Amino acid sequence: MTRIERLALIGVGLINGSLALALRRKGAVAEIVGCARNEATRARAVERGICERAVADPAEAVEGAELVVLGVPPAACGPVAEAMRPGLAAAAVVTDVGSVKSQIVHEVVPHLPEPRRFVPGHPVAGTEHSGPDAAFDTLFERRRCILTPIEDTDPEAVARVRWLWETAGAAVDLMTPEHHDRVLAITSHLPHLIAYTIVGTVADLEDQARTEVFKYAAGGFTDFTRIAASDPVMWRDVFLNNREAVLEMLGRFTEDLVALQRAIRWGEGDKLLDLFTRTRAIRRGVIQAGQAYVRQPSPPGVNGRP
Ligand code: NAP
Repeated sequence: MTRIERLALIGVGLINGSLALALRRKGAVAEIVGCARNEATRARAVERGICERAVADPAEAVEGAELVVLGVPPAACGPVAEAMRPGLAAAAVVTDVGSVKSQIVHEVVPHLPEPRRFVPGHPVAGTEHSGPDAAFDTLFERRRCILTPIEDTDPEAVARVRWLWETAGAAVDLMTPEHHDRVLAITSHLPHLIAYTIVGTVADLEDQARTEVFKYAAGGFTDFTRIAASDPVMWRDVFLNNREAVLEMLGRFTEDLVALQRAIRWGEGDKLLDLFTRTRAIRRGVIQAGQAYVRQPSPPGVNGRP
């Protein structure tokens, strides 16, 4: 497939910024126009080479673009799609990177001149950092990107977006938006909810106990704090926009937690051993599938990277 002549990125943060840097490295795009609300974000995106120019108005950003990627928090996707409509060509392919799919499809489709050219997507890769400074060009390498075309999505548009992500280094899978939301509820949304809860519980401890938690954090708490440092706006939107699937998984988790509580109370070591042995095997499976979290090398100037 040929390179993209003009790509519009609505949002130039971690995900869209990393996509831009990856595509540039491969020489896959001639011109990128960015869009963000804040002047400081736009200036930084241009400085980091994410886009040639950046504007505040989504309609201006998408003018003349053959491909548009929505990379804003989930709840902003609908309003942004509405705002970009006056500038959007019917032939343009539109995709997004939102962590929930059904709700975004529901909110974006009514604003598009040609819904068949919309290919919802979600790269399953990320870090707890945000904004253009957090972007790096290897974020999607050996990661997965899920595309959730809807019933009559144009296959040529799907092929174009597949090419985009494969060029950025990801392996692409296709599934329905509903299936995506159920799978991600358990693999991503529930773990984030648990991390937010644990870190929140510690935050509520009295000063003395909290100081000791920080001092001895290497015992497991540190890993939770990394996840719980993820972008608050994005995660608020994820839980509110994938409510049903998250509540279902949370119900199952709560039952399992109560069963574990009971096993501890009654000294049922065999039950604990059985569970912990099974979970160890799951960790091996995740590593074999190449999806374990690996610290990425830090490009110069990237915020908070070790
Ligand atoms: P981010 O780093 O915070 O970047 C968001 C970008 O969107 C910024 O450039 C921001 O700039 C802009 N923005 C925010 N609200 C906007 C609005 N209402 N209108 C126009 N621009 C707006 O976020 P991100 O981590 O890249 O996440 C973007 C999307 O990717 C989200 O939908 C998220 O669900 C999805 N995602 C995230 C991860 C992850 O690990 N972070 C992983 C996979 C998918 P201004 O604030 O200056 O407007």
